[in-house]
Amino acid sequence: MIKYIPKEFKTILNKYRFIDSWFWCRYSINPYNGCEFACAYCDSRSHKYHLQPEFDHLIYVKNNVGAMLDDRLRRARTLLPDVAAIGGTCDAYQPAEESYANTRQCLEVLLRYHYPVIISTKSTLTLRDLDILSRIAEDSWCAIGVTITTLDRKLAGFLEPRAPSPEKRLNVVKEIKEACPEIQAGVNFIPIVPFLGDDERNMEEVVADTKMAGADFILFGGGMTLRDNQASWFMRRLSEELPHLVEEYEELYQAKYTLAEGYRGRYEPGKSYLKRIHRKMLELCKKYQLAFRIKRYIPEDFRKQNYLVAQKLLDESYLCQMLGRPWTKTFWAGQNINNLGESIEDIARRGELRTIRNIDASIEAYVLNLLGNEGEQ
Ligand code: SF4
Repeated sequence: MIKYIPKEFKTILNKYRFIDSWFWCRYSINPYNGCEFACAYCDSRSHKYHLQPEFDHLIYVKNNVGAMLDDRLRRARTLLPDVAAIGGTCDAYQPAEESYANTRQCLEVLLRYHYPVIISTKSTLTLRDLDILSRIAEDSWCAIGVTITTLDRKLAGFLEPRAPSPEKRLNVVKEIKEACPEIQAGVNFIPIVPFLGDDERNMEEVVADTKMAGADFILFGGGMTLRDNQASWFMRRLSEELPHLVEEYEELYQAKYTLAEGYRGRYEPGKSYLKRIHRKMLELCKKYQLAFRIKRYIPEDFRKQNYLVAQKLLDESYLCQMLGRPWTKTFWAGQNINNLGESIEDIARRGELRTIRNIDASIEAYVLNLLGNEGEQ
């Protein structure tokens, strides 16, 4: 039985020092602690999130989230409107939302303060809020990523036991795009689950059906992570339902799993595996002409050029990462430009681009070229 417990929390808005360069968010908001969808691979079970062990059947409903968020944004002297991700360690539209509407309360406040929003979800309840999501999209920016790891119902029943079926999720993308084209909507093909979702047939089906649904993007990348408690949970479920795969996982993750001692091993598959998956996905995105990056929010203040330039660098570093090429220098250059407290155009005019961390001669030339071709960006 699922228990919902209303609870006071001290904070509601979390600010990242560096943006999440896949989802473009600066802030995160978790309206609930815990997630009823109970995905077997859910990373939120790992110790680093400090969530309750009964995470999938004891859901803490955060009290007064709307008032808390309003208070935080009203008093903020140093915060600038930027993308807020709702959910992360929980699904913003899990069943609790139907009764408590914490996500909706947050959306109302974010709209009032002109904050753009991104939501990753597996829920059809998202459609309830199309009115406000559409107003946010028109006011600033809004993106919805619906997570799909397989279109096979039976497999989804093992991986995501309490989430709506993959067909229903695809339909969410379709309905959003039909009703509100101003909202960017797509599929988060995350994680690509080894030996279950990484065969070429599944990958192609997910990409093809995402395209058919009218999606703007499909996100993928990185291997499925296996960390401490989350890894032990996943491996236990695997040993119960698909025991023949335990050894395969042990080999891929160079790990050892026993019920008594849990999981000990790497937290992600090796590089050659990742490279193969990523290359295949890039090939499929090309074949189906589907973007694998979300178009980011661009503010109209002094950050405008910084964000445009950072987007180019972060897009480039993502592609290099997927292809197994060096990417960290470009990534950090993008992040540092994104965080500048003044316009990069002013810095370039003073000839001081090289004072920005991680900008070397080649990135400086690249940035100058971008700024010179401003009209074409
Ligand atoms: S929907 Fe997301 S947060 Fe919820 S259990 Fe699944 S992976 Fe975890």
